Amino acid sequence: MIAAIDNPSFQAFPWVGLALWAAFAVTAFVCASATRWVHSTGQLLEIPGTERWALILTACGVALLGGFAAAGPVAIPVALLAALVALVGFVKKRDAVVPETRRFLGRGGSANIAAEVRTAFKRSEERTRATKQPAPSLTDRAKSLLGAMSKRREKAVAVDAGSGGSADAVDAGAFMFLKKDGTHAIDTDDPEAMSENVRNSRKMLMAAMRAEATDIHFEPQEQQYFIRFRIDGVLQDIGKMPIGEGKGVVSTLKVLSDMNIAERRRPQDGTFAATLDGAKFDIRAASTPTSYGEKMVLRLLQSSGGVMKSGLDKIGLRPQVLKRLNEIIHKPYGMFLVVGPTGSGKTTTVYASLSEIDAHKHNITTIEDPVEYRLENITQIAVNTQAEVSFANILRSVLRQDPDVLLVGEIRDKETAEIACQAALTGHFVFSTLHANDTVATITRLLDLGLDPTLIQTAVTAVLGQRLARKLCEKCKQKCAPPPGLLKKFKLRDGEIDHIYREKGCEHCRGTGFKGRMGIHELLVMNDGIRDLITSQPVVGDLKKAAIANGTQTLQIDGLMKVIKGQTSVSEILRVTT
Ligand SMILES: [Zn+2]
Repeated sequence: MIAAIDNPSFQAFPWVGLALWAAFAVTAFVCASATRWVHSTGQLLEIPGTERWALILTACGVALLGGFAAAGPVAIPVALLAALVALVGFVKKRDAVVPETRRFLGRGGSANIAAEVRTAFKRSEERTRATKQPAPSLTDRAKSLLGAMSKRREKAVAVDAGSGGSADAVDAGAFMFLKKDGTHAIDTDDPEAMSENVRNSRKMLMAAMRAEATDIHFEPQEQQYFIRFRIDGVLQDIGKMPIGEGKGVVSTLKVLSDMNIAERRRPQDGTFAATLDGAKFDIRAASTPTSYGEKMVLRLLQSSGGVMKSGLDKIGLRPQVLKRLNEIIHKPYGMFLVVGPTGSGKTTTVYASLSEIDAHKHNITTIEDPVEYRLENITQIAVNTQAEVSFANILRSVLRQDPDVLLVGEIRDKETAEIACQAALTGHFVFSTLHANDTVATITRLLDLGLDPTLIQTAVTAVLGQRLARKLCEKCKQKCAPPPGLLKKFKLRDGEIDHIYREKGCEHCRGTGFKGRMGIHELLVMNDGIRDLITSQPVVGDLKKAAIANGTQTLQIDGLMKVIKGQTSVSEILRVTT
């Protein structure tokens, strides 16, 4: 190109000059729009060093102007190349923080870029339309608070509760606050226009979602608010916030979850939702007054995608257990219980089992406290103890509606247990959870509730005991020799297993040595031996023997098998099973 321009015979044609100016304009446009895109994307995704990348791109634009004046056309390809190199550098950083389906480099990158461009167009169109419309009506509370927030920054929070429409329309953004019903709650597209409180709330939620935290604890002390995340079942210190800013965040979260902001002396709870990179999270907020102010705990439930829709084979069951379980849940009647302590993933497993059943051919009804995940073609009913709508009450009325499959969120009392068992005996399949340590303890727990042994004997088909164990971080797990006890447990000879792994800790896993969790399970299937024991005031030891004789592998054995596979460590299995 440069040679062509220098060649006098080409300069005779006027289009060379024209093409030159066009190339100049395109390069200038690339530099300017790339700078703008880097700036907004980087801020939205909170990519470190964003300003530096934007500055480099601006410098490319300036170099183009200066270079063109000083050195002529050669400045165009040089500036364009420099801008592209910088852009690729930034895209690499961006790709590291977005999910695989939205990455620009690598396989499927061009399709992702096209999708991103389409979304950007759609959103700018929506924004234009929104500014033309009169301001939508809001609840007075939200209006006054958001109004107060915006006093500091006149541009402030654009609120759009009415328009915005379905969750689909707003799903595409990087981060978005949604109301309970899925409508757009606060505009977080433009970081410049957000109030400080909204920005702080957004930052905290984004950090939690990225870290795959399940809970955020936001607790006031004398001078500051402490932020802790529960990641893989363990609380971790994340940071602090000055008390004033913390209070602002609490107010924002209360507005979002429809709580009464003026009420600070009584515990309150509410829900809202947020999307990050297309993934939707339902968030349950609970505020409690403490001596230093209000403490806020947020529980994050990823409602879109996830295990719920993918089925039982994704929760880490051994193939034999999976096969047996699949046979059990497809029986026309009976009862399947998932048991474990709080936070052992019972709900996930129950939903995953439920997703195996054809919702088109069966009338499936769930009774939950509260409804955690929305499922298609399924009737979901929430328990409301304040309105005296208990599990037992709903269960009785639901049974009159010809259900095939029932999910009773949790069995807590004798009444619920009795109705659920009767349902299981009268041609319905019942799924439920129970707070019990393991499968054998479930039977003694049901007997302790005062349930008739013959009812348990006939109604319960199978019990799955469960724990969540943290998976070793693949980046830093360390080889170690298998302890002799482990070999003995599996009747293995010395040297039969070369090595297992233990946790170490690195940047990738925040120094914990673990990343992600998986289930460990024990499945007890009822047989005549166990049934006979139930009616004769069973001893736990005898029940356990009968279960093992019927093929049950205990939680610990299942966990240790996963240790041998290199997925987790001995200490982690001991932590969750003892
Ligand atoms: Zn690590």
